[in-house]
Amino acid sequence: MSRGRPSLADVWQQFEPFSIGLHGRYTFCQRCKFCGSNVVDLIDQLKEHLIKCADFPANLKESLDLTTSKF
Ligand SMILES: [Zn+2]
Repeated sequence: MSRGRPSLADVWQQFEPFSIGLHGRYTFCQRCKFCGSNVVDLIDQLKEHLIKCADFPANLKESLDLTTSKF
């Protein structure tokens, strides 16, 4: 994994994309591979989830540079 430069693709890699069809409208979501939570497919939401996720390994958190986030 690359170091120093967090990439959005690295964040997305921690999730499985899926969509929910509701009344003819599709909402795109991501499911956390670690805890199974569903998160709205917005990069800020995904990052925020990984920061709070109890099952997400701390070493991965560091490699994604999430620890320097404003949160
Ligand atoms: Zn999670």
